[in-house]
Amino acid sequence: MNVLVLNSGSSSFKFQIIATDLEKIKRDTDDRICRGEVEGIGGEAIIHFRRRDDAIQTFTAPVRDVTAALDYLVRYIVSDRSGVTEIRSTADLHAVGHRVVHGGELFSESARIDDRVLKGIEDCIDLAPLHNPNNVKGIVAAQELLGKDVPQVAVFDTSFHHSIPAQAYLYAIPYHLYRRYRIRRYGFHGTSHRYVAFRYRAIRGLSREQTNIITLHLGNGCSAAAIQAGSPVDTSMGMTPLEGLVMGTRSGDLDPAIVGFIARKEGLSASEVDSLLNTQSGLLGVSGLTNDMRELQAEMKEHDDRRVRLAVEIFCYRAKKYVGAYLAAMGGADAVVFTGGIGENSPDIRTRICEGMEWAGLRVDEKRNREAIGRESVISTEDSKLLAYAIPTDEELLIARDTVRVIMGVPHPS
Ligand code: AMP
Repeated sequence: MNVLVLNSGSSSFKFQIIATDLEKIKRDTDDRICRGEVEGIGGEAIIHFRRRDDAIQTFTAPVRDVTAALDYLVRYIVSDRSGVTEIRSTADLHAVGHRVVHGGELFSESARIDDRVLKGIEDCIDLAPLHNPNNVKGIVAAQELLGKDVPQVAVFDTSFHHSIPAQAYLYAIPYHLYRRYRIRRYGFHGTSHRYVAFRYRAIRGLSREQTNIITLHLGNGCSAAAIQAGSPVDTSMGMTPLEGLVMGTRSGDLDPAIVGFIARKEGLSASEVDSLLNTQSGLLGVSGLTNDMRELQAEMKEHDDRRVRLAVEIFCYRAKKYVGAYLAAMGGADAVVFTGGIGENSPDIRTRICEGMEWAGLRVDEKRNREAIGRESVISTEDSKLLAYAIPTDEELLIARDTVRVIMGVPHPS
């Protein structure tokens, strides 16, 4: 089954086409046909396209909206120019899997999209006003292009976290606010946490029930999850992705009184402060330079700028604090798993986070750590009691596999 995986943003979307089925899932032989990104939708869009491991092709096209962009992309893929021989017409696209950011309390697992599910995703717009409308647009565009007979599946960023108990998902605010508005912790990056937890147990030959780990997704967005017996019991992002770890442009945790204080002092509205905390804070806000960890590390090496150093230190300290908190919450764990652009590729950040964790039985093996760049590897010493792993995430693969499983009616393991 050729599954088109779509991750729709406000003026862009990422895509992959993965050939997979139940047999391929079992044998781990899913076939990635092509992937890429369309940016700048609404004007002269830039399209990055890559067939298998060929060189990336980049070209532009005027597209007015997501539907037009998807239409253009699919026409390109079926044309001879793309070099994709497996997809000769839209009939060769057998299903679509969508990354959907917020499933609220409605969706505890991936769901085949019908009118009821689409309405459910729309009902969650209140909780994710910046994300869910784009996901809906992506779904509608795919329906328009491929017709309603091509099955589409929604894979939610929130659903893996449904196992989190009330003591961890409720905020200590008047309970009626939860009842009225469903204000609670939902957590995000669920597909990534779920994927690396699955890879961890595959690498170690463990069962789901034997999986007791802390996963750190450190990318432009960052979150931690405490996973006990295979299911999350806590996670750092909250009702929105703003809470928890320090991120590229998001503050993560702060004293909630600061919001009103900034609003008064700077003469900003609530939504302007919200935007400041989401888009001008984190690594960017502290360093005053960039949200890009690679650039910050290069800058630190060359100039040892104080604010750049502070940004990196605050980032690592917050992550370490969450590891400690989750060790306490879980009564200990077997491993800390690093993933996301930073977690997968930066030995230095992993070392900083693990430093001083010998009390918990965690010691980083510097050689293993340095060599573990963009690949699966244990990075702790042989005698560590608390292990550390670097495991590249693969949300698209999990979305494609869930799409197949949902369509075939096979319950998917979380
Ligand atoms: P993601 O959102 O998962 O794509 O991650 C993006 C983040 O990963 C950015 O801050 C990048 O600078 C960071 N990143 C990617 N490669 C490296 C690297 N080799 N060293 C440090 N950070 C990296």
